[in-house]
Amino acid sequence: MRFFLEFLRQKVPKAGKDIPHYYRRALVTSEVLLIVYYLLCFFMYPIICGEWVWVPVLFLAVGSGSLWLAKHGGIRINLILFAAVSISWIWWNIWYFGWSSGVQHFLTLTLVLVFFNVYDKPLYKIIWFIVILAVRILLFRMSQLHPALRPMDVEAGTAYQTLNTVAFFLMLACMSIVFSTSIQDTERQLRLKNQALYKEAGTDPLTGLPNRRSMIERIEKYYKESAGQPFSVAIADIDFFKNINDTYGHNTGDYTLVRLTELFVEHAMGRYTVCRWGGEEFCFFMPGMNLDEAGSLMNDLCFAVEKLKLEHEDKEFSITITIGVEENDFSSPLEDLLNSADEKLYMGKNAGRNRVVV
Ligand code: GH3
Ligand code: MG
Ligand code: MG
Repeated sequence: MRFFLEFLRQKVPKAGKDIPHYYRRALVTSEVLLIVYYLLCFFMYPIICGEWVWVPVLFLAVGSGSLWLAKHGGIRINLILFAAVSISWIWWNIWYFGWSSGVQHFLTLTLVLVFFNVYDKPLYKIIWFIVILAVRILLFRMSQLHPALRPMDVEAGTAYQTLNTVAFFLMLACMSIVFSTSIQDTERQLRLKNQALYKEAGTDPLTGLPNRRSMIERIEKYYKESAGQPFSVAIADIDFFKNINDTYGHNTGDYTLVRLTELFVEHAMGRYTVCRWGGEEFCFFMPGMNLDEAGSLMNDLCFAVEKLKLEHEDKEFSITITIGVEENDFSSPLEDLLNSADEKLYMGKNAGRNRVVV
């Protein structure tokens, strides 16, 4: 009983940003196409069998109910209704017109809906598969045992079979297109979201600069792709930054980090990439530059920081930074180069700060 209730309860996921809602779209598409198809059949019957047959009107009414359910109901109930209506339609056609009417193909549509139901358990799909296969065999047996009530002549039969075949292929194509394009769409959205998340994970929220992880990735990429090319790295640390926090408050400390970032970005002009290494430390990566060039560039920067006028909440102050620079020696791993730049930075601190050590 619980198994049956669980089986019945499966809901079509609501349309949303993250959850693919292609299932509902495929259901609605197939129900709309079926309604059009019943209408066509209704108007075709007087031509092919010489009288109005009202059965398609009944299916049209049920089809409209199915369309409503496809928009509002759960997957399971929709599938059951879809299968029940399809089987009834096929059964009636075979019973009335015979196997040659070609409606038996419509069973495949239920199978497509079953197998594209990504939220369903494989066991349920296998059960559906067996049931539909059994129905198909039974319907064929019925067509052999009971001759058609209203067999059509060759021309009418051909016309009706053509209508059914075209309708089936059209519905199969439409459902497949809805499924495949929706899945592609969802995949694309996921890819974009992943890219955004990846970028966010590599960005420092306060300054908007790349963070340490992202910087190491960039340098390692350069290391691999431009083997044999010179480059330099530098680590800068704000002098007595703790005093800024202690004297003016943490907000002013944050403001200082942001203003300093702006200055670093302004001065870059494509010559270096800067990242927030951590706390009040920044790391510079200067591709193509040797120690002399990098040292001179960092000296300019050190000087520019010293001259930078900072103003926050009516307080005016200035800061200095100390920088350690190291160049690629074509033999040491990146970690050693960064450690060496860090050591030089601390040499600069011990030597009195506000300087560049190369
Ligand atoms: P030194 O010249 O030796 O580098 O002295 P310092 O005061 O800069 O060094 P210390 O390591 O003692 O202090 C660093 C301070 O940086 C302590 C910490 O509170 C502050 N800090 C780190 N990250 C942030 C941040 O995101 N915002 C603010 N406002 N302060 C930060
Ligand atoms: Mg520090
Ligand atoms: Mg410091």
